[in-house]
Amino acid sequence: MSKLVPELYGSLVFNDKIMRDKLPKDIYKALRKTIDKNTHLELDVANAVAIAMKEWAVENGATHFTHWFQPMTGYTAEKHDSFISPVGDGEVIMEFSGKELVKGEPDASSFPSGGLRATFEARGYTAWDPTSPAFIKDGTLYIPTAFCSYSGEALDKKTPLLRSMETLSKSATRVLHVLGETDVTSVSTTVGPEQEYFLIDKEDYKKRKDLIFTGRTLLGAMPPKGQEMEDHYFGALKPRVAAYMHDLDEELWKLGIPAKTKHNEVAPAQHELAPVFDTTNVAADHNQLTMEMMKKVADRHGFVCLLHEKPFDGINGSGKHNNWSMSTNTGVNLLNPGKTPSENTVFLVFLSAVIKAVDEYADLLRLSVASAGNDHRLGANEAPPAIISIFLGDDLTEILESIIMKEDVTDVKAETMDIGAKVLPHFYRDTTDRNRTSPFAFTGNKFEFRSLGSSLSVSGPNIVLNTAVAEALDQLYEELKDVPEEKMDKAVLKLIRRTISEHKRVIFNGNGYSDEWVEEAEKRGLYNLKSTPDALPVFIQDKNVSLFTKHGVFTETEVFSRYEILLENYSKTIHIESLTLQDMVKHEFLPALMKYIDTVSTSVLKRKELSEVLPVKAEMKMLGKLSEGYESVFDLCDKLKADTEATEQISDSLENAKAYHDVVIKDMEELRTVADEMEALLPRDVLPYPRYEDMLFYV
Ligand code: ADP
Ligand code: MG
Repeated sequence: MSKLVPELYGSLVFNDKIMRDKLPKDIYKALRKTIDKNTHLELDVANAVAIAMKEWAVENGATHFTHWFQPMTGYTAEKHDSFISPVGDGEVIMEFSGKELVKGEPDASSFPSGGLRATFEARGYTAWDPTSPAFIKDGTLYIPTAFCSYSGEALDKKTPLLRSMETLSKSATRVLHVLGETDVTSVSTTVGPEQEYFLIDKEDYKKRKDLIFTGRTLLGAMPPKGQEMEDHYFGALKPRVAAYMHDLDEELWKLGIPAKTKHNEVAPAQHELAPVFDTTNVAADHNQLTMEMMKKVADRHGFVCLLHEKPFDGINGSGKHNNWSMSTNTGVNLLNPGKTPSENTVFLVFLSAVIKAVDEYADLLRLSVASAGNDHRLGANEAPPAIISIFLGDDLTEILESIIMKEDVTDVKAETMDIGAKVLPHFYRDTTDRNRTSPFAFTGNKFEFRSLGSSLSVSGPNIVLNTAVAEALDQLYEELKDVPEEKMDKAVLKLIRRTISEHKRVIFNGNGYSDEWVEEAEKRGLYNLKSTPDALPVFIQDKNVSLFTKHGVFTETEVFSRYEILLENYSKTIHIESLTLQDMVKHEFLPALMKYIDTVSTSVLKRKELSEVLPVKAEMKMLGKLSEGYESVFDLCDKLKADTEATEQISDSLENAKAYHDVVIKDMEELRTVADEMEALLPRDVLPYPRYEDMLFYV
């Protein structure tokens, strides 16, 4: 490293310090106001910012700029324009205007819109999001933007995320005012996403069509050793991996991404990276960038970084833990239990709101993490179950219970202001019960939503979380807003008590992986939406559409279009997996199997010539197994082909997705089972692609 970290950090970001240095004072102030208070940005300010941005970018070697956005593909998109502007005499100057900074007009026709964008109006708009800083990557100035259609519907993941942050801010601030925290003017949500990933050798990757086309292995027998020895988690980093992580950290730091923690994960070849948390919107942008850099840096090191939720069957998949909290503009983390009673009141109200929100919108939270890839994890004893519940830890649960049980607490407390003093003397430290089996766990001063798949954009889950909590806060607010000041403490306590008792069914501190929990959850009336096709229809239920429209997060049209996109995406994913599996089986697996059958037959024949002398029983047995297996695989592949073709014809998108789930996936699994049994019989060098053991233990 030629530069020291503090110097390196954020060196490619148009951050606050650069803005202050480069912008005239009044312009800087106006921009800050837009960023901090969401005020409208005037064109003259935009023009001045554009000039400063361009100057800074050019000084740092940039020749192009791009509006960077997050369409519904789940990836990011960019189209680059150079700064050059011809001025006659074959000369150019570098130019960039406020208009170009603020608005772009990419062709939207090739991005998923779920029927939103009529084909005759293919134009889409990108609009600068000044709350997420611009940065330089590969000689281009990246401007974070929101992406919408001609008629203003959101076509991306950022727009609704920003809307959800706004609604939460409004709702939370109102509640704080009622509670006497009148100096708070806004509340932002914060997110720290822990990102898991696999590293495998690039040469191995190139030989596996399944990894190339689908991101996961569709065939592959388990090696003699998997993760059962638990020797990889937090294990010493191998030099090649350490070098990769080091390089990755540096790249992320340059982009102002505060990469903080890195370690080996449970599965062989699996690792994790976590940054320091940030405002949700920035954290979401940074997580997209992190995933991109993980892949890019891997390439430089002769690796491929796999972000799929389940690259290897039988071995833990990858998730993303979404650490989430709310914090005021005055710097208070609202989910910090705190030390003084008054803060505890605020904490208890916000805690109640989260519990209420998670219980009432558990279906939406489940939906927000649903994907074909994540279906392999949820409920598979390596990730939280598909049932959404909250882990609070014993201390906090006890406190809440004592609040519920204490019938006379209001009388006792009536004359004093401190509802917290007696019930909460002992819990301002993180209780740190580490229940890894809970999908939604309180971890000291934040909640950790653990059901996200590794490749998922964090936007979706946070949109749901923010909006649901905003709604819960609104309902609490309605009950408190007309209470006179002297009666407030009593009213708040009563409200907390009622809210907790109404929603305590969602609290579960036990083992989320156990079968008893599945039964218990059913008794409690909690959702258990096992697969993506099970989960998606909740999106368009009245209660949920109302939530989103009421809070201005999605219009009804946007909800339905997103629902369509998700269904389509699911079906397409399984369709491609099916075709890839058929392709590998027909062109690689069966020919390899046949080759070995030939070898064994030849040897059987040769032995037969000597039959009087040598027994051929073992060879015959082997031959029998191989040819039976060959036939089975062959037939199952035909069945998969026929069923996939039939499924493709189903025009209703939900029925279509269900058929991919019920029929096609099942066919793929059956085919794989037999093929993997056969693979275990083959000599090492017969298959034209690397096996699990080659990929997982040599990096
Ligand atoms: P663990 O693996 O033990 O869960 P990590 O340290 O790997 O913990 O990750 C914890 C994540 O939670 C980090 O990204 C951290 O910045 C984030 N975090 C801490 N406080 C908050 C907060 N108030 N809001 C959001 N995220 C937070
Ligand atoms: Mg964690």
